Parts: sequence; structure tokens; C-alpha cells
Amino acid sequence: MLQMEEKHASPANVQEIDLYSSAVRQFDIAADILRLEDGMRKILSHCQRELTVNFPVEMDDGSVQVLTGHRVQHNTGPGPSKGGIRYHPMVTLSEVKALAMWMTWKCAVMGLPYGGAKGGVQVNPKLLSQNELQNLTRRYTTEIQILLGANQDIPAPDVNTNPQIMAWIMDTYSMNVGYSVPSVVTGKPLSLGGSPGRNEATGRGCVYVAVEAAKKAGFSFDGARVVVQGFGNVGSSAALIAAELGAKIVGVSDLQGGIYNPHGLDVAAVAAHHAATRSVVGFDGAEPISNEDLLELDCEILIPCAIENQITEENAPRIRARMIVEGANGPTTPDADVILGDRGIVVVPDILANAGGVTVSYFEWVQGMQWFPWTLEEVNSRLQKIMTSSFARVYDESVGRGVDLRTGAMCVAVDRVAEFTRLRGIYP
Ligand code: GLU
Repeated sequence: MLQMEEKHASPANVQEIDLYSSAVRQFDIAADILRLEDGMRKILSHCQRELTVNFPVEMDDGSVQVLTGHRVQHNTGPGPSKGGIRYHPMVTLSEVKALAMWMTWKCAVMGLPYGGAKGGVQVNPKLLSQNELQNLTRRYTTEIQILLGANQDIPAPDVNTNPQIMAWIMDTYSMNVGYSVPSVVTGKPLSLGGSPGRNEATGRGCVYVAVEAAKKAGFSFDGARVVVQGFGNVGSSAALIAAELGAKIVGVSDLQGGIYNPHGLDVAAVAAHHAATRSVVGFDGAEPISNEDLLELDCEILIPCAIENQITEENAPRIRARMIVEGANGPTTPDADVILGDRGIVVVPDILANAGGVTVSYFEWVQGMQWFPWTLEEVNSRLQKIMTSSFARVYDESVGRGVDLRTGAMCVAVDRVAEFTRLRGIYP
């Protein structure tokens, strides 16, 4: 028992990074520019619903562990709330609230009929067996079920969660209501109503916006040197698809460390090495590099695809990329944004750059609600269209207002959600 307690972080020993105040700071910048009325500012700077659950999980050795999780809905004005669930030892309520708020803006930037939500369980899933992971997922789903529904709140994968976990969520919800509801969750396995292309959609979307952003910055994506931090679902897909489109991937990393080759890595071979050893570290034909140094490599495009707060006021002065495309949520702090802006480094913000995931989640949900599947070609071509047009809209807004891309994207998003809120009014 003691051993289990040591293995899992408890709320008391996790350092609270107040991500929510960063998210509100970004919102305030857009609210000032839009001259948002006071009441609207108050509404949109709060999360509508915050649920914290402490729930028991039976471990394989027969002991019981109590874990803490959250599900937060920032806003349900535009439609059902949408957003992933993460399993991570550093999950906090403040983080989940920030991520829920960003989901609202992300869906609004893409013009999806959703509000934003997020969920998280404070746990290190790498220390759990499949059986323990399933127990955790089923009990957490039951605890937050009062908020969920295909027309209410629809989870999806996020950090350390995957299609199998989505299948357990879908099954648990369905067993509890007494009939199958595939559309209560997205990112499901294909055979359970998942969408072709969903797995790699976030990475693919990142690459599509990077191509557009490179055109505007006056260099070609073909031949550009790209560095990717993180080799999970988003990072590995982004690296593979960027290489397919002609970019030279010079560095990649994961939790264990990074690898660097100025002549370009064979990304498919790196992916095979990662699949075999669970890390990119030790790959032949590359030098080792730390995650910190990887972020500071000389390159055209840096794609951070790990977790938040990676580019801070401390390392921002040393970043040498021409452009940062945020595959992760919140990798750049507001203070770092100012430094990067002053140094002329373009940041394509998370709420646009990584929106390919939720966009194909939306496609999956539409296919599920209509019980009518699409082909991979249809999914990818619609994804490309929506990423390209959303980039253009954000770019025009930024140029029109003389602000950076993050602020431009926030203005598009906040304006849209404010309009919904104004039109719907306050009831009762
Ligand atoms: N977790 C992903 C994100 O942060 C996807 C969310 C979804 O598909 O609902 O955007």
C-alpha cells in the first residue's frame, strides 16, 4: 500500500502551476481589443461547471488506491462541450480549467458547433497494468457521467489516453444508460465507430498550418528544417507527415531525451525504433541532445508537442527557430510570447495549430450521429480545407488588428463565443 502511495502523486505533493491565470491573461488581451462589455468578460473568464472526483481503484495486488480527477466545462453556449481527458501525475484543477477554456476558443476558431471542456486524472498511467487502467477509466467515467452525453459533453484522447481508453469510456457510459452511445466519445477505435484519420489528425493539422504559415513568412516548407519536441501521438504524426511533405526533421525528443541530426533524420526509422524501445533515445545515426537544448536548435520550424510551459521567459531569448507551431496545448507562457514577439519569431498558437484533432473528432461525431462513415480521403481533404481557411481567417484578423497570431486567433474565437452568449441571453 505504501508502495502504491509513493508511486502515485497526491494533490499535496504536486506543485500547482497556475495555468488558468495564463489562460485568463490571454483572454483579457482579446477582451480589451474587442472592448468586450463587463458582464460578458465576467461570464467568459469563468468556467461554467467544475467537477472534482476522488474515486477508488482496485489494483492488481488487491489494494485500493484513491485517485483524484476533474471534468470541467468552460462553456456550453455554442453547443455540446468538447475536449479530451488526460492521465498525468501533474494534473491539477487549474490546468484542467485552462485546457477547458482553450477548447472553447479552439472550437470557435475552427467554427465547430461546440463549447469547451477538459478532463484529467492525477496519475502516472505508465505505472499501471492494462487491467488497472481499465478499472480507473471505468470508475472515473461513472463518476463524471452526470456531465457526459453525445449532446452534452463529449470526451476524446489527450495526454496519455488513447482509442482503447475511449472504447472503455464509451462502453461504461453505454452500460450505465442501457444502450450503445458511440457518439458520447471521439477518438474511438475504427471498429467501434472511430473515424479514419483521427489518430494522426492533430499532427496532420499542425503540418497543414505550418505549410500556410511558412508561405506567409516567405520560406518554403519543402526543405525547411523542423524540430519536434515530444514523440507521442501528436509529435510522431507531425514529424512523419512533415517529412512526407519534404521538410527535413533535424531533431525529435521524448521524455527520455532527444536526438539530433543536422542532415535530417529518417523519421520512419525513428518511429520503428520508438515502437521497439519506447523511446527515440539510442537511435543510430543521430547525436543525443537534451530536451532543453532541442528547443534551442537552429531551425526554421519548432513544433512543441509535449506539455505546457516549455517555452518560458527563461529560454525564449535563446530560441533560434523562425517559427513555432504549437502542437501541444499551452507550450508557450504569456511572458515568453512577448519575448518571442519582440524577436520576430512567429508563434502559430495552439488553439489553431493543434485544432486538427478536435476537428476530426467533430467529423467522427457527425459520422456517428448520422451512422454514416466517410472515407479517409474525405476526412483528410475536409481537414486540409478547414485548417487552411481557419489559418487565413486568423492571419487576416491579426494583420487587420496589427496583433500577433495568438491574439488574432483569440479575437476571432472570443468574438464568436460572445455573440452566441449575447444572442442566447441569460436564462432564467
Ligand atoms: N485533446 C485534443 C485537444 O486538446 C482533442 C480534443 C477532442 O478531440 O475533443 O484538442
